[in-house]
Amino acid sequence: MATHEFADAGRLRRRDHQQALVAELGRSAVTGTSLSQVVADAVSAVAEGLGTDRVAVFEPTSDGGALAVTTADGWPEDECLVAVGSDSAVARAYRDQDATVAGTLAVVPLRSDSGPVGALAAGGSEQFTPDDVVFLRSVANLIAAAIARDRAEDRRRKSEEALGFLAEAGHLLSESLDYDVTLSTLADLIVPRLADWCIVDLVEEDGAMRRVAVRAADPRKQQILDVLHGEYPPVAGSGQPAAQALARGATMRFPEFTPESLRASTLDERHYELMKQLDPRSAIAVALVAQGRVLGALTFAWSESGRRYEESDALLAEELGRRAAAAIENARLYRSELEAQRRIAFLVEASDVLASSLDYDETLTALARLAVPRLGDWCVIYIVGPGNVIERRAVEHAGGRQEFIRSVLEAHPILPDAPVGVPAVIRTGHSELESEASPISTASDVEEPEELASALGEIAVHSTMCVPLIARRRTIGAILFVSAESRRVFTESDLRLAEELAARAAVAVDNSRLFNEAEQRAEAAEALDSIADGVFLVDAGGTVRIWNAAAETITGIAGADVRGRSASTVFEGWNEIAALAGATPRTVPATIEGRELWLSISGVPSSDGTAYAFRDVTADRQLDRLKSDFVATVSHELRTPLAAVYGAAITLAERDFTGREDLRRLLVTQIAEQAARLSAIVDDILFVGRLEAGGLRLEPATVDVVDVARAAVDAARIRAGESAEVELCAVTESATIETDAGRLRQVLDNLLDNAIKYSPDAIVIELRVDEDDRWTRFAVADRGVGIPAGELTRIFEKFYRLDPHQTRGVNGTGLGLYVCRELVERMDGRISVSSVPGGGSTFLVELPRR
Ligand code: ADP
Repeated sequence: MATHEFADAGRLRRRDHQQALVAELGRSAVTGTSLSQVVADAVSAVAEGLGTDRVAVFEPTSDGGALAVTTADGWPEDECLVAVGSDSAVARAYRDQDATVAGTLAVVPLRSDSGPVGALAAGGSEQFTPDDVVFLRSVANLIAAAIARDRAEDRRRKSEEALGFLAEAGHLLSESLDYDVTLSTLADLIVPRLADWCIVDLVEEDGAMRRVAVRAADPRKQQILDVLHGEYPPVAGSGQPAAQALARGATMRFPEFTPESLRASTLDERHYELMKQLDPRSAIAVALVAQGRVLGALTFAWSESGRRYEESDALLAEELGRRAAAAIENARLYRSELEAQRRIAFLVEASDVLASSLDYDETLTALARLAVPRLGDWCVIYIVGPGNVIERRAVEHAGGRQEFIRSVLEAHPILPDAPVGVPAVIRTGHSELESEASPISTASDVEEPEELASALGEIAVHSTMCVPLIARRRTIGAILFVSAESRRVFTESDLRLAEELAARAAVAVDNSRLFNEAEQRAEAAEALDSIADGVFLVDAGGTVRIWNAAAETITGIAGADVRGRSASTVFEGWNEIAALAGATPRTVPATIEGRELWLSISGVPSSDGTAYAFRDVTADRQLDRLKSDFVATVSHELRTPLAAVYGAAITLAERDFTGREDLRRLLVTQIAEQAARLSAIVDDILFVGRLEAGGLRLEPATVDVVDVARAAVDAARIRAGESAEVELCAVTESATIETDAGRLRQVLDNLLDNAIKYSPDAIVIELRVDEDDRWTRFAVADRGVGIPAGELTRIFEKFYRLDPHQTRGVNGTGLGLYVCRELVERMDGRISVSSVPGGGSTFLVELPRR
């Protein structure tokens, strides 16, 4: 009994002590003691309360597969790790969430609201009582509460940290509008706080991915990342984490990489090997989404630090991704805005530069200089020249190697029918963009492309653009832009800028070409005007386009009156002239505006029509004619009387005229007459000589012309004798004018003599005199042989006779009418003739009355 009572009292004391220990522990647990201290105190309390030297707190390992001792007192080393699934008392208590007492070992679970968090174990030398188990449970509850509180605290701290981080990240990201700075800031934020290394990929306009930043905390990993960056650019649609995130537009978490999952994310064996060296353990890929558009992806990886991404990390990464996307979008907008401004500034500058010169070659050079390096590392300007031949006109290289490029290109003529390249662009008027170009693709429009490609290899070709130069709806050339050393990849937007530059340039080039041509034309016109030959150009439509100064002088027609007119309205009988004109000059008669001219003319066909050069040979021609007229007329006219004189003289010398006095007298008379005729001819010729030498002076006086006419008619009657009737028909008794009576008489005598001479049958000759306000007129009319229409002007020429060989037996020197005209003109009058062949002629002399 006493023993029993004793035992009871001992039990009560032990329980009281245990309760006091629990109370003490509870107090210290709520006063802010750290979790580890609370657990350590709890372990001591258990040892004391149970009087044992073996106590341990187990907590699950990070993979959740085992329970490990975190705090202990005298717990055996070899029992510190227990598999959750094992049959040990610790594992069972943890699993079943119930106290387990096995012999001298008691284990109680540590439970929180969210489930088991560990186990508290105690081992003794004897079996534990139910009170002991209650005590253990109480301590376990206190530990669990402390753990729960600590975890809550940890979460709060973490989320505060995350918020702080995000606030800082948002601030940093929004600090700069510079695209590159923004991306680099982003990488700095991630490493090493959120990852051991990270990758930033962006999506291009065309959907392709572009790796824009790689950053690693470890310099060796940075090197591997750089190699990956060069050799394995991201591929949209592949198994790479970033590609997966992009494809889904959502965050992808890879909590743990296995060799298999790593292999699945790579493109080939080398890629896998490189990734293995990078050794990612856990990764997150976040899609960068702004305003519903996927801009790119951020890939975070833990590697050497051995950490894992939890669900909460994904949330933080996503939030960072959102802020980064907004910052990138802003920087992008700003960049495109800036880019647009730069483009405008560039085009404005281009327009200024292009407008600054009207010199053709200067304009082309300026254009090439504008293009490099803004639009490429080198450029070539092609111009469609005469005969549609494509010429390389300007070459520029940013590194000053234009001469090299020029000489390389010169050795390779362009194939005009090439289906691609410059000829195709010029033919179609459509641009060509080759983002991934090579020397051989650039050489595809020339002869021997391989040779050119190997030469171009030296200066490299990375990307090319070829744009047409179009002005006035005609493609006048093309510009080839080449990206080489810069390794720049031309985009659609570069092509648009190039096209806009080309549109402006084409106008400038066209203007300078027109100006050049105009200048050349002006120079040519100046040259044309300085040459003595008449030059005119008749275009394909028969219109006169050019009429030089000499042409004006020769024809007396101003260029302004001829240009634009049809050649057939300028030249009578143009068709014959046009047909005759060849490269060797021909002499043709031409009637221009009523003027008869002899022209030596040659024509050369050109693309603009036919250019004619002509020389006025009218004077030469007249001289020629004069010569032949002189020979024909005068030689005959002199020979006839000379022969008569000679014949008569011989006869007188050789024959005996005894008793034939009459015959002898006849011969002597003949000699005298023929000698007189010879002397008259010589007189005529001498008179003409005087006339032409200016040695003849008129002696004007007040003259009654009716008297002069009457005297002339009287004298003519005597000369005519029986052969003709000569009549005067004057409208007034007298008419006086101021003139040289002697010369007037000479004219009238001449005309009356001719009328008699050339009227073999008809014998009535009339001299009519009349006058009006301005003129006094003398008309000598006959009814003789008349004169053909074609000869009416020529009869006034010196030595010209219709019938120089006197088949009709009429003598004459051909000087009479010439002298008449010369005298009349000196008297300020005029002479003309009208005639009907076979019906008679009328010569009209008009003298001014004054
Ligand atoms: P010539 O009478 O000495 O031959 P002219 O100069 O007087 O020289 O005349 C030139 C030519 O004009 C003549 O040869 C003649 O053929 C022609 N002619 C001149 N007058 C007449 C006329 N009244 N009737 C016909 N023919 C004429």
